[in-house]
Amino acid sequence: MSEDWKKYRDKIIGLGENSSRKSYYPELQDKISELETSKENLLTIINSMSDALFIHDTAGKILLMNNKARHLYQIEEDEIDQVNVSNLICDQDNYNRIHLIWENAIQGESDIFELISVSAKDMEEIPVQVSINSTTWNGEKVLVAVVRDFRERKKYEEELIAAKKKAEENDRLKSAFLANISHEIRTPMNGILGFAELLKQSDLTGEQMENYIQIIETCGFRMLNIINDLMDISKIESGIMTVTLNDLKINEVFDYIYDLFKPEADKKGIRLIKNTDIPIVICTDKEKLIAVLTNLLKNAIKFCHAGSIEFGYTTQEQSILFFVKDTGIGISKEKIEHVFERFIRGDHEMSPKYEGTGLGLSIAKGYVDMLGGEIWVDSELGRGSQFYFTLPLRRK
Ligand code: ADP
Repeated sequence: MSEDWKKYRDKIIGLGENSSRKSYYPELQDKISELETSKENLLTIINSMSDALFIHDTAGKILLMNNKARHLYQIEEDEIDQVNVSNLICDQDNYNRIHLIWENAIQGESDIFELISVSAKDMEEIPVQVSINSTTWNGEKVLVAVVRDFRERKKYEEELIAAKKKAEENDRLKSAFLANISHEIRTPMNGILGFAELLKQSDLTGEQMENYIQIIETCGFRMLNIINDLMDISKIESGIMTVTLNDLKINEVFDYIYDLFKPEADKKGIRLIKNTDIPIVICTDKEKLIAVLTNLLKNAIKFCHAGSIEFGYTTQEQSILFFVKDTGIGISKEKIEHVFERFIRGDHEMSPKYEGTGLGLSIAKGYVDMLGGEIWVDSELGRGSQFYFTLPLRRK
């Protein structure tokens, strides 16, 4: 019961708790108590609503609001007069739209619409659904707005949209991967079958035979690599890939990698530079470290056509930092954040110029993660790429 009403009632009618004239108006007193009780009940009902409720005029002046509305829009009891419903509407476009809806509602056209509203204090944006109707209040036509907080629902909606996008992207990647993998398998397979057929000829010279066998061997290795990559990624993803830690002389690994890639780099006219720090022994999984370096160097050679490739490591306090830097084609801004995802291939995705399954970097990331390190890349299109990864400097 408002203080004003209490004063009015006590003074004029003499019905105050301690009024001596109370007993003169028993019927009136009963009527007023009844009305007061029914008002209290009404307030209890609107305050127990889970939606916010505003009763306001067409200028946005608030005549009544429930607890949920106060709580949602951070309006204190004594601030009702300072806040206008228009202040809770997010932007000018919405403002015009809603004023039109109010006018229509006054003419009897109720409406339900969604809106981004803002709280009165911290201006937090609150997506809501508003149902608007008109009623008569003290003889005037006013508006009744029931406002439902849509924040949770919007969050779910956004999650659903993101999940749908991801599912569509996965589907696209799967199709691209299947098309790509069939190409990747078919090419060496055709090589094997084609040159095996040629080998059947009886008039081949020794040199020709050796040449054909060499091609069949190369194609065989290429197929084996694809199958190994597929098996590795599925083992990583299903969590059955194990780690075998042993003391490892890092310099020896780098010598091995250098010898492995030097002929290929020479063939492409690229300078291969090994830049290692002081010799060091760390406890890690040799095969996985070699696989990571091999994947990075294979890519560096594949995507570099001139200049140099520098690879090496530097020791840091807690970890060892490995790097593979090339002066190759680089990676675009759009692709760079996705290159470690499986089946992702660069902007040349559809170009037969660069063979690949889009698995090398995801395998490298999978291994680095398993070994307790991190992997990342800096790159600029046309200027080259720098791949880095760390491994913890732990000893057995
Ligand atoms: P693949 O090489 O089989 O396509 P990866 O997973 O090894 O798959 O690499 C994913 C993509 O990342 C490549 O297709 C390529 O676009 C890009 N990429 C990787 N390494 C380099 C590099 N050194 N220079 C330029 N692009 C690279």
